[in-house]
Amino acid sequence: MATLQITDLHVSVDTEQGSKEILKGVDLTVRSGETHAIMGPNGSGKSTLAYAIAGHPKYTVTSGSVTLDGEDVLAMSVDERARAGLFLAMQYPVEVPGVTVSNFLRTAKTAVAGEAPKLRTWIKDVKNAMADLKMDPAFAERNVNEGFSGGEKKRHEILQMELLKPSFAVLDETDSGLDVDALKIVSEGVNRVRSGGDMGVLLITHYTRILRYIQPDFVHVFVDGKVVEEGGPELADRLEDEGYDRFVNAPAPAV
Ligand code: ADP
Ligand code: MG
Ligand code: MG
Repeated sequence: MATLQITDLHVSVDTEQGSKEILKGVDLTVRSGETHAIMGPNGSGKSTLAYAIAGHPKYTVTSGSVTLDGEDVLAMSVDERARAGLFLAMQYPVEVPGVTVSNFLRTAKTAVAGEAPKLRTWIKDVKNAMADLKMDPAFAERNVNEGFSGGEKKRHEILQMELLKPSFAVLDETDSGLDVDALKIVSEGVNRVRSGGDMGVLLITHYTRILRYIQPDFVHVFVDGKVVEEGGPELADRLEDEGYDRFVNAPAPAV
């Protein structure tokens, strides 16, 4: 059992106009085996939360904490976060010129596991994971992210997750830009990894669509850098019917 705990997290982003506070005190606890959906309107700070957990240099944590089994995640380098069992797709560079998917995956696995995987089982694992995600084997020899379509990027993300077997995965807008068939394949991939172990998932999304395929245990509604409502899967159904209007147009609560 592992616990990812976010406590009163405040995060600012560096802009040309100076520093701007985006996250205004986020509290969230994710345990092994749990899937938490973070839902909210555009600009509410969902990606900022993901970037802050990933350690993106543009996002400054001004107060609060993120811990993994009590260990201070914010004090870790990006590599250390991955070795500690966090999977944050956005920590990887957008394009890695001259590095094939195959070599990239093996390098990532070696970095996370602390030793190179045995070649024969590794090749089999990669083949199986790619087949599960209905990926052309030729994909393994392409350069990372070079000319990838939106759908290929998402599949590559899930392929990494399947092979790295993290204890916690933060998936930001995994559903964006996918048609229904691709969405199903990607969701099945997430569900396979979830069912095969006790991975905790933070599933960040604007739309409820992906939650039909990946059932969350908890739903958190994010507005203006804060969690404004929490519930079970029924909250996602309610958001599907009602949208975010009642949160966005609601008067600010008295402090
Ligand atoms: P979401 O993912 O919920 O759509 P974001 O976390 O991307 O929201 O953005 C939240 C707010 O922070 C927005 O107002 C956005 O413009 C601002 N923001 C986020 N990242 C940056 C950045 N790198 N530079 C300037 N503003 C940013
Ligand atoms: Mg608080
Ligand atoms: Mg976003």
